[in-house]
Amino acid sequence: MYKKFYDFGISDKVLVALSDMGFEEPTPIQKTAIPPALQGKDIIGQAQTGTGKTAAFGIPLIEQRTEAGSKYPYAVVLAPTRELAVQVSGELNKIGSKANVVSLPIYGGQSIELQIKNLKKGINIVVGTPGRVIDHIQRKTLVLKEIKTVVLDEADEMLDMGFIEDIEKILGGIPKDRQMMLFSATMPREILRMSKNYMDKPVYVGVDASEMVVAKIKQVFYEVREEDKIKALTRLLDVEGPVLTLVFCHTKREVDEVAGKLQQMGYPAGAIHGDFTQSHRNEMMRKFKGSDIDILVATDVASRGLDIPDVSHVINFSLPQDPKGYIHRIGRTGRAGKSGIAITFVTPRQYRQLRLIEQSAKTQIKKAKLPSREEVRKSNEEELAGSIEEMIKEGKHTGFYPLTNRLFEKYSPEDVSAAALSMLLDGEDIEEIGQAETDYAGAKRDFVRLFMTVGKMDKIKVGDIVKSISAEANIPARNIGNIALFDKFSFVEVPADLADRVISAVNDSMMKGRKVRIQHAKKRA
Ligand code: ADP
Ligand code: MG
Repeated sequence: MYKKFYDFGISDKVLVALSDMGFEEPTPIQKTAIPPALQGKDIIGQAQTGTGKTAAFGIPLIEQRTEAGSKYPYAVVLAPTRELAVQVSGELNKIGSKANVVSLPIYGGQSIELQIKNLKKGINIVVGTPGRVIDHIQRKTLVLKEIKTVVLDEADEMLDMGFIEDIEKILGGIPKDRQMMLFSATMPREILRMSKNYMDKPVYVGVDASEMVVAKIKQVFYEVREEDKIKALTRLLDVEGPVLTLVFCHTKREVDEVAGKLQQMGYPAGAIHGDFTQSHRNEMMRKFKGSDIDILVATDVASRGLDIPDVSHVINFSLPQDPKGYIHRIGRTGRAGKSGIAITFVTPRQYRQLRLIEQSAKTQIKKAKLPSREEVRKSNEEELAGSIEEMIKEGKHTGFYPLTNRLFEKYSPEDVSAAALSMLLDGEDIEEIGQAETDYAGAKRDFVRLFMTVGKMDKIKVGDIVKSISAEANIPARNIGNIALFDKFSFVEVPADLADRVISAVNDSMMKGRKVRIQHAKKRA
């Protein structure tokens, strides 16, 4: 059927652009999504990350251009993060390069004046994060009256981030006869429900969620105690010798902590999360892609949807929230058919959670043992032997001949070189990393009550509070006690020894698009 891009009957200008981009043939999701999309049908597309969803909607979008240039955009793409907006817009500009279609990313964190100036130039496709798009609509700097197509990229993520109201608001301002395309790696029920409300007999294209986990990714887990995680991480980095490693943490704070410790120990690591400025995040991505740094430590949100080629190892420093998160994370490796390794750290009390993830993601995560002291030593020796060989080949060592000759008068060459080598390696103290044993979840604890400034009127449910506290503060959900929801506020009980951690992690964070304040509750009279 559709073996080549040519078979879609698309314009030469787009065909040339695709060939310039090095695209030889359409990916499976492109084969199934492009034909109905070209016919103007509404599309729901599902396929795991890295399967070319951007071009699956991008090619039909570019094809849709109107020849008579208008000063208003004809399409708008919504994306959950700034990085993704930039990336998608970049790809659209490439596909549209020969067809005179211009796309612009608009997102929070970049000067709005600059964006207004650019929008005035006459942009054909706007790619934006929901908040900033609304901002421009309200300022009337973004006019939607000529919009023919709207795309939601990473739709599941946008819902998770509480963008649903923003999205609905934007959809409300777009002409009713528009085409709508929705792309996502997973299809939670909310998305399907939303699609019923906003889409017209959508064509469903894609892969069933249960078939999604890629066979090419080797998945293992290590049981480690919380306090041993950094040691375990550096050991794996030393022994496995990964090319590019993406390390996932739960919270921004954990990202800072892990990246900071790695840097202190001399590992070329960088960090990205939502608190960094856009230019810092761009810089990090550039360094990581250019291999100036080999290790990128990130939160889920900051890294979602990013196309980073050649990630050899994904390390879940802390367990992902749910099976969906797991799939998203490990999908960062093994891209475009390459093989990859996904490693997950699990504390003993998280063991059950891991098994649940394994079951619902329909995958196998095998238990592995951290490299022992012996193995580390061996790998260090290998490395040293390699450097010595290289040095001899390059002849950089000959300045030391006089010294060796003098030593050889007294000792055998074997003794001399062994002594020299031991100076290089013996200094390295290789610690044994204890296997985790105790499960302290059962321990009795005192609970304290915290007061939070969000409640039922913010459409917040008990589950949202549990999820957000356990994610932000990195504590297991089962350590969270009773939750009482009122209209405008709520009370939550947490173990006394974790209260400060919860307060500092959750205070000022966002929940369902609302800023949350949290503090110790006043004592009941
Ligand atoms: P997804 O949105 O599904 O995660 P992307 O759209 O980011 O995937 O695509 C992943 C990578 O594959 C990108 O680098 C993209 O340029 C490349 N790509 C997409 N389609 C093709 C194709 N038909 N042939 C070759 N590379 C492609
Ligand atoms: Mg994508």
